[in-house]
Amino acid sequence: MEYQELTIEKAGKLLCDHQISSFELTSALLDRIEKYDDEINAFITIDKTMALEQARKADQDICDNKILPLTGVPIALKDLLCTKGIKTTCGSQILNNFIPQYDGTIVKKLKENGAVIIGKTNLDEFGMGSSTENSSYKITTNPWNKAYVPGGSSGGSAAAVAAGFCCAALGTDTGGSIRQPASHCGVVGLKPTYGRVSRFGLVSYASSLDQIGPITKDVKDAAILLNIISGNDKMDSTSAKVDVPDFTKAFDLFEKGSLKGMTAGIPKEYLSVDGIDPEVEKVFNDAKKIFCDLGVEIKEISLPHTDYVVAAYYIIAPSEASSNLARFDGVKYGFREKVCEDLIDMYKKTRSKGFGPEVKRRIMIGTYALSAGYYDAYYGRASKVRTLIMEDFSKAFDACDFILSPVAPAPAFKIGEKMDDPLTMYLTDIFTLSANMAGIPGISVPAGFSSAGLPIGIQMMARRFDELSLLRAGYGFEKTIKLDVRCEI
Ligand code: GLN
Repeated sequence: MEYQELTIEKAGKLLCDHQISSFELTSALLDRIEKYDDEINAFITIDKTMALEQARKADQDICDNKILPLTGVPIALKDLLCTKGIKTTCGSQILNNFIPQYDGTIVKKLKENGAVIIGKTNLDEFGMGSSTENSSYKITTNPWNKAYVPGGSSGGSAAAVAAGFCCAALGTDTGGSIRQPASHCGVVGLKPTYGRVSRFGLVSYASSLDQIGPITKDVKDAAILLNIISGNDKMDSTSAKVDVPDFTKAFDLFEKGSLKGMTAGIPKEYLSVDGIDPEVEKVFNDAKKIFCDLGVEIKEISLPHTDYVVAAYYIIAPSEASSNLARFDGVKYGFREKVCEDLIDMYKKTRSKGFGPEVKRRIMIGTYALSAGYYDAYYGRASKVRTLIMEDFSKAFDACDFILSPVAPAPAFKIGEKMDDPLTMYLTDIFTLSANMAGIPGISVPAGFSSAGLPIGIQMMARRFDELSLLRAGYGFEKTIKLDVRCEI
């Protein structure tokens, strides 16, 4: 049995049919992690005892015929999601001893649906980065080639899914952190509409941009997980009171009508972005052809404010971060510097030691942008640009059902290559940031490989709350391209 290849759907079926037990599956994946994670570094924390206990309970439930969508299925969680009784570090030294008293809403929902939580995955500290090199614990490597980054900030989750350490994982996406690592690791990543999924128990990076979403082996699993995690939550006032459709309906829509009648928009500004890699362009053009063959009408559209997206995002996200991260002061939770003269000295030493360099950079940018006298020129101006970006998208969606684009301008880069140059790193986010700025959903689906054998994905974005169209188009594409994305580690 190739446990590492099991999707949620396949594992669920085998468990239900009593062909495997959850204990067997969970133990096999834990063994695999033990064997290979020294090189991949996908996980920060594994609680073997707790995972096996959950697996045993799931096996009992299956015997008692109490079967839920995730019963007995091992899922990994980005270590930015609060888990009761399991250390939640956010990739930071400032939370190196933080054990939450509660489960975040999404973790609770997974457990209520029978999932086995196999471990907490590595990330860029507080989600700040595009390569997972900003973790203060370890550098996750790309399972396809360990000299390369897995992308970020949910690099641990994407690498864990690609390496077959779990059936699926959850990540978070503030500016691309689900879609970009999914693309670099050859797996599927879905960022839901802002408000679709509760953020209660997700440690905030930039509250107006953050969303939790699935990282999976295929599009079907993304729909299965989205069904479970979606919905209004009284604990998060920004979670939307909108109906949650059955997202697996997307597949019937495809089977019945292919993608006929759908229109895809290609933003003309995206193709003239500086530094776009010819191999990414080729994968993108091949994908366009597949959509054409599936009956999708392809139209050129315009997103005129594309040039301002990176600048506006890198004002708004650090501003919100500087405010959100003020709570880490050594008083309420996490690390506290012991030797200090007074309270102020304790704050200073705790924060100086507890935060890494990228987090400090963002706090400084954000504090500056929000300070009296500069607020209007920076944060105020960036917020106005954000409105223009939103308007670009709502106009674009008058002409198309989804927007097709690359996920990142280039395939995964080498570890260390961009660490000394944060600006170049920020620029690699050009295609993913807009979906967060506009609050719309986006999905990344594997679409090809570079000549070096690294996966390359394509991105689709849709209207607010229209994840069904993304899943329908993504599923149709995946079924037609039939890419073999099994990764030998
Ligand atoms: N790379 C972006 C940043 O560093 C996005 C990160 C994310 O989506 N969490 O802010």
